[in-house]
Parts: sequence; C-alpha cells; structure tokens
Amino acid sequence: MLRLPKFEMAEPDTLDEAVSLLAKHGDRAMPIAGGTDLVPNMKHELFTPELVVSLAGIAELHGIEQAGDGSLILGAMTPLDELARDERVLRGAPALAQAASLVAGPQLRRMGTLGGNVMLDTRCQWYNQTHFWRQSLGYCLKKDGTECHVVAGGRKCVAAASNDSAPALMSLGATLSFQGPDGTREVPIDDLWKSDGIYNKKVSGEILTHARIPAPGPGHRGAYGKLRDRGSIDFPLLGVAVRLDLGSDDVVTDADLVVVALQARPVRVRKVAETFRGLEIQGPAFREALDEVCTLASKQCRPLANIPGDHEYRHAMVPVYTRRTFLAACEQGGPVHHV
Ligand SMILES: Cc1cc2nc3c(=O)[nH]c(=O)nc-3n(C[C@H](O)[C@H](O)[C@H](O)COP(=O)(O)OP(=O)(O)OC[C@H]3O[C@@H](n4cnc5c(N)ncnc54)[C@H](O)[C@@H]3O)c2cc1C
Ligand code: SF4
Repeated sequence: MLRLPKFEMAEPDTLDEAVSLLAKHGDRAMPIAGGTDLVPNMKHELFTPELVVSLAGIAELHGIEQAGDGSLILGAMTPLDELARDERVLRGAPALAQAASLVAGPQLRRMGTLGGNVMLDTRCQWYNQTHFWRQSLGYCLKKDGTECHVVAGGRKCVAAASNDSAPALMSLGATLSFQGPDGTREVPIDDLWKSDGIYNKKVSGEILTHARIPAPGPGHRGAYGKLRDRGSIDFPLLGVAVRLDLGSDDVVTDADLVVVALQARPVRVRKVAETFRGLEIQGPAFREALDEVCTLASKQCRPLANIPGDHEYRHAMVPVYTRRTFLAACEQGGPVHHV
C-alpha cells in the first residue's frame, strides 16, 4: 500500500489567510482543492509539501454566477459534477459542461473541482509512477533526474496537459483570476501554460479564484469529444473542444478547435475560423470545409509517446474526433465518447 508522506494541514476560512500561508511557506506549501490529483501525486512522492492549505472553507471560491452582461463566473472550488449539470453552463458553455461530465468517474467529479482541473499537473507514463518505479529508471528531467525518456536528449519536459476543462475553456475565450501576495492578476487562459511541462514553473503561490467566460452570442454551439481507454474513468488519450458561432441562417461567423493530451499545453488548431467562416452548417460547402479542418488538425496535432496509448493510434483519431465533435456541435448533441 502506498502511504502519504507526513505533512501539516491548514484550513483557512479566508482567501487572504490562504494566500499569506502559501507566501510564508513558499515552495514547502501547496494548496489543495478536492485532492483527487494532489493526494495520489503525494503518495507517488511527486510532491512532498510540508504544509497543505485546504481551499474548501473559503466561501468566495465556491459557486457559479451569471453577471449582468451574461458572462459566467465560475468559482475555482466548483465541483466538476455541479459544472456539468448547471443549466447556465449547459446553455452558455456546452463544451465545458460536456468536458466536465467526462472527467474521471462520478465520485471523482463530485470531489474534483474546476480550479484543481485547470491547475492539474501534466502527465507522463514515465512520471506518474511510484517513487520505487521512478528510482529504478533513474528518474527523469521533470522530477529528480536529468533525462527525458520521451524525447532522447530533450531539454524540456513534454508531459501532456491532460485536463479536460482546459481546451473547453480555451475555446470559450475564458479569463482566469488569481490572487497572490502581490494582489490579483487576470490571465487569458491561452497564456497560462508554457510548452514546458514542469508544473512548478507556473504556480508560484497564487490561488486561482475563478474563471470568467464571456457571454456567448445567440448562435453559440459547442461540444467536447474524448478518446480514452475506459469510458467510465480514464484520463484523455485525446480531448477535442470545438466552438461554432452562427449568425442568421446558421452561417458560421467564428469557430475554434482546441486539442488536449498531446503535449505540455492544449493546442489551438490554426486556420479553423477562416476555413468555416461564411458557410451554412447544413450545406455541402460546410462538409468540404470540415474535411479541410480535419486535415489541418491531423497536420498540427502530433501526439507524443508521453501518455499511455499508442501515439500513432492517437494521431489517427485526431481527424475522427474532430469531425464527430464538430458534427455534434452542429446538431447541439451531447459529448462525443465511447462507453
Ligand atoms: C482515477 C482518476 C482518473 C482521472 N481522470 C481524469 C480525467 O479523465 N480528466 C481530468 O481532467 N482529470 C482526471 N483526473 C484528475 C482529477 O481528478 C481532476 O483533474 C480534478 O478536477 C482535480 O481537481 P481537484 O480539486 O481534486 O484538484 P487537487 O488534486 O486538489 O489539486 C490539483 C492541483 O491543482 C492545485 N490547485 C487546486 N486548486 C487550486 C487553486 N484554486 N489555485 C491554485 N492551485 C490549485 C493543487 O495544488 C494541485 O497541484 C483523474 C484522477 C483520478 C484519480
Ligand atoms: S516528458 Fe520526459 S521529462 Fe517530462 S515527465 Fe515524461 S519523461 Fe519526464
């Protein structure tokens, strides 16, 4: 049985208290939300904080609100299960509701939060292992070692962003708010991740307080597609978030496609909006454009041998999931996945 290393736990009631605890203890402290990722990672000794600061008791981090301008404000401590069922999210941000509904399994979605999902550590089959296993291999660049086992001679970590909410939030143009010792900071979600998968480079004691999604237009359509081994629980082998904004007569005015589980950050496929813009979604030209978009996705998304699942198979599934997810968005259907 894997045991947790020893640590102290703090349960502050206010954001200010949590921020000062994290500032005071620096790298020796970490925030915990639902704990569904941090706790296994601590058991694997990927993180060994001396102090764990629970965000559960901070009221202002909980809940979903709709602002007067129609934008959605999603508290970082909102459980994924709540996000997946909320009528306002289902209507205004269907790709996000669908992505949340496909994270892990039901128990983990009740414990796991939006904030923990956004701030999820990147994953790799050479890293998400026990200490004994990693030690036998000589560790790796991301933790305790000097070499990458995915890219021989690689100078940066290419572990995969594996958080289902991330591409959905990117496709929706979300902005994230953080509170830290120097005050609050707003970050467009596209700027959150770097191309290096070493987690601690991007956190530095700040707490994600909420995500804001701009109000969708009346013709907003979105969907999420997820490939995974076991439809009931697994992390994505590939996650595809799509957005279509339609004007009058169902003509595309804007579109987006963001893919996750490839590399250290979610990847936006280029030239998607240009390819679809001006086309009516029921017409033959849209179907031809969809073929083109699938080819663009296949060229721009190159899965690496970083997570389980054959990377050539994952690559072959990129156009398949791109097509299915765009068609689901057109039909305002549910999420694309197998069970
Ligand atoms: C069997 C299994 C299957 C899983 N499958 C999936 C899956 O399919 N898709 C998926 O996306 N995830 C999956 N997960 C991972 C995890 O359950 C979810 O990502 C969940 O949303 C994490 O949220 P949490 O609140 O539990 O985060 P925690 O574990 O509490 O925290 C995760 C990380 O985020 C940091 N953090 C948390 N909240 C904040 C905040 N507000 N500000 C700053 N930092 C913060 C923590 O310090 C920690 O580093 C799976 C986990 C397990 C065990
Ligand atoms: S991508 Fe390389 S450095 Fe990163 S976790 Fe995997 S083996 Fe380690």
